[in-house]
Amino acid sequence: MFSLPLEQRLEVLADSAKYDVSCSSSGSSRAGKAGALGSTAASGICHSWSADGRCISLLKILLTNACIYDCAYCLNRRSNDIPRAAFTPDEVVALTMNFYRRNYIEGLFLSTGVLRSADYTMEQLIAVARRLREVERFNGYIHLKLVPGADPLLVARAGRYADRLSINIELPSSRSLALLAPDKPRESVIAPMRQVSGLIVESRADRKESRKAPRFAPAGQSTQLIVGATPESDREIITLSEGLYRSLELKRVYYSAFIPVSSDNRLPALPTPPLLREHRLYQADWLLRFYGFAAHELLDEAHPNLDMRFDPKSDWALRNLQLFPVEVNRADYEVLLRVPGVGVRSARRIVQARRGTRLGEVELRKLGVVLKRARYFLTAGGRYLGGIRLDGPQLIERLLAPARRPARLDQLELFAALPDLSAVSGEL
Ligand code: SF4
Repeated sequence: MFSLPLEQRLEVLADSAKYDVSCSSSGSSRAGKAGALGSTAASGICHSWSADGRCISLLKILLTNACIYDCAYCLNRRSNDIPRAAFTPDEVVALTMNFYRRNYIEGLFLSTGVLRSADYTMEQLIAVARRLREVERFNGYIHLKLVPGADPLLVARAGRYADRLSINIELPSSRSLALLAPDKPRESVIAPMRQVSGLIVESRADRKESRKAPRFAPAGQSTQLIVGATPESDREIITLSEGLYRSLELKRVYYSAFIPVSSDNRLPALPTPPLLREHRLYQADWLLRFYGFAAHELLDEAHPNLDMRFDPKSDWALRNLQLFPVEVNRADYEVLLRVPGVGVRSARRIVQARRGTRLGEVELRKLGVVLKRARYFLTAGGRYLGGIRLDGPQLIERLLAPARRPARLDQLELFAALPDLSAVSGEL
């Protein structure tokens, strides 16, 4: 594993890391300091290097792609016949410092397969982070993966050096984990998450008492769920995410469309990765975190899966038309956030602007409110902006149609197949 030249190992181990999406932003802010190298910014250290569009920012590598476990969905599983490679902790430290000094990266995302045992592997990861911090005085961003089943003492040590910790749940239910990842019982993943959550809270409290108290994973923790490898509904996935945000205060749950990288008759034969479903889940996740929605409002027993034709807020609004239209000059901020097409920024601007003036369509446009979808759900000064019957069939056609174009069937199909990018802008 160490016999290949360093460049080849870098190629193998960076390529193996690209399926882990749980690292797309730092969320950590730390100024530079005398005698130390680097700083972190709350955003902007996410660079896309991969040809297939996946975020493989930072120096995103595995310590090793050899693994004693055999998770069915994983490229690095024990039973896959692929070239294996590994770095020593010193090599990872040298690469990180080298790349940082050349301005190629702003931090390190270090994940790994499980070598020998969970504890041994965790110790290797910690050795990298410890040397970066204590020997190299590296003050930049470090995201470390936790190894399922590692000793709680090692988990506690990892958080002293890393900005962010993550451990991937991967599959939404214990049933699916037992089927596809039999070496990783659910508790081996959830217990460290609980521990990290508790230590973060403790560290925050300690630092309120004294700024000298040590930090613990100041950028929080994240996880990843694979979408489409197992039969769980979007409702199960979103409900799980909601629980993780609420009870364990996760910073992010990432969703990764299942890509069949190894053949196994326990896995579904998908013609293409369910990227649109992944996108809709990100939109629903956004609604949970920033728009005040609860999982049970978005999906229920009668609607267990997100509608691929609409963003989840439009889908919710179509099922709750009795709540619309709302008057833009009077509606509470929380109500405005529920209008399809009105994002956090627009809702804030509306609330601010209407203190001084009465808002009509012209004023909304001047505020930068995009009315493409919102107009069907709003009145301004008592005048309905949609120009159609809210409860008629036209509404669905208009929501599906690209702006200012006749809603021809082929266009509808094309539009339905392509994700809109509203989750990126936040204007859902
Ligand atoms: S433990 Fe991680 S690296 Fe190993 S097979 Fe499972 S998912 Fe892959």
